[in-house]
Amino acid sequence: MDKQLFINGKMIKGEGNARILINPATGQELVTIYEATVEQVEMAIQAAKTAFSETDWKQDKEERAALLMKLAGKLEENLEELAKLETENTGKPIRESRLDIEDSAGCLKYYADLLRDQFSEMMEQWDGSASIVKNVPFGVTGLIVPWNFPLLLGIWKIAPALAAGNTVVFKPSELTPLSSIKLAELMGECGFPEGVFNLVLGDGKTAGETITASEDVQKISFTGGTDTGRLINEQCARSFKNVSLELGGKSPLIIFDDTDIDKAVEWAIFGAFFNQGEVCVASSRILVQEDIYSDFTEKLTEKTKKIKLGDPFSEETEMGPVISMDHLRKIESYVEKGKAEGAKLLTGGERTGKQGYYLTPVIFTDVTPDMEIVQEEIFGPFCVIQTFSSEEEAVEIANGTKYGLAAGILSKDVERAERVADQIDSGIIWINSYHTPFVNAPWGGFKQSGTGRELGPHGLAAYSQPKHLNTNAVMGELGWYKF
Ligand code: NDP
Repeated sequence: MDKQLFINGKMIKGEGNARILINPATGQELVTIYEATVEQVEMAIQAAKTAFSETDWKQDKEERAALLMKLAGKLEENLEELAKLETENTGKPIRESRLDIEDSAGCLKYYADLLRDQFSEMMEQWDGSASIVKNVPFGVTGLIVPWNFPLLLGIWKIAPALAAGNTVVFKPSELTPLSSIKLAELMGECGFPEGVFNLVLGDGKTAGETITASEDVQKISFTGGTDTGRLINEQCARSFKNVSLELGGKSPLIIFDDTDIDKAVEWAIFGAFFNQGEVCVASSRILVQEDIYSDFTEKLTEKTKKIKLGDPFSEETEMGPVISMDHLRKIESYVEKGKAEGAKLLTGGERTGKQGYYLTPVIFTDVTPDMEIVQEEIFGPFCVIQTFSSEEEAVEIANGTKYGLAAGILSKDVERAERVADQIDSGIIWINSYHTPFVNAPWGGFKQSGTGRELGPHGLAAYSQPKHLNTNAVMGELGWYKF
């Protein structure tokens, strides 16, 4: 099991750094990963380049659709094993890992179907000529994802990139490569042409920057932190690569006083703490209308304390450990910052369990808009409560960070909720729910939460570029020059 890279259709051993993965639930060693050297990443890029230029992958839409469907079937057949790998590697509760694998298979099927419905656009021109606009792939795409949904976020990119006819060099986070290794093995079994999909393992500095700096890579799609996204955007600008960035967030959940408080409490907990709060769209700011503040906050605190935190392999577990000791310390440092800034800690912020990186979910109140805990993405089980009196104030607070990824609005008055939604600068807004990604609708952010969209037809369009072909069946006289 030391052949963990997938380059040019073969599983091979990485000749770079040997990294020991740690199980976040136990703090114990899991497995050794042999990462790629810069030369091996370059080999993967060349394999993808050759596959793009020398096979008929980009033309054969039926083959692409059939292989994506076949891969979806393989994910379903191997659902339990993939879910186990995901839970071992990330610490997320097993029932959530199963959902991630199901959603990944669904995404592959969606793009296989969408691809079959893609046609070129035909136009008759004013001069009697005919125009065809084809959507053609870029070539080699570099796909880079973080550790919170390793397989799902990977598939959100791999499925549309391959559907559009590109070839792929895929880099998961150095912390969470396990499900990607299994994915590569399954792709090998499916019979994808050699070089169409390549998996390289390694950190951002070695593997990531080799991909983003390469002139043979035409498109980068990145999900990760806003600061990393900025750096990647700058690197890609040098060679004018097409770039899609799915970055961080500090998303508000606005709760109006006409809502059912008990239901709202559960949605708020789900919004803020699902997947240990390690979700880009986590509702890490809860905005509550003043007259229900006391009642809501009391119930929120009481229910949050009852979340079942523990062994991610137990079917009963509702929250697992955070990804690493470094990340645990980062979240704890924000607990200290919050207290130092004068906010009130209602609950959480304590390490629990005899082993692993468990932290009780954190709720702060009595915050002001300028505090770091209100402005910065913490990316863990950590939320702040803010209050508002009017619709206008709710909108102002909701829009009051540099981010614009997602938002939620809970109210019985759907007309009002839609009016508020129209004024919120976010790429995704849920009214009376939270979190569900719909595979056929766009996902991505405004402001410093990113550029471009994943999922839906927008997600496919992100991996192709229009090519306009104008044809005159017979060459006419031009008559422009007086020869
Ligand atoms: P990072 O931004 O640190 O890393 C994301 C990926 O980029 C990793 O694979 C990382 O490699 C790689 N990377 C790091 N530096 C470079 C570089 N210079 N060049 C190329 N690649 C690089 O994020 P995290 O992994 O810490 O994930 C958490 C972040 O992801 C959060 O801020 C969150 O908001 C964001 N996110 C956004 C989502 C969205 O849809 N908008 C969804 C999920 C997460 P490595 O870590 O191996 O070094």
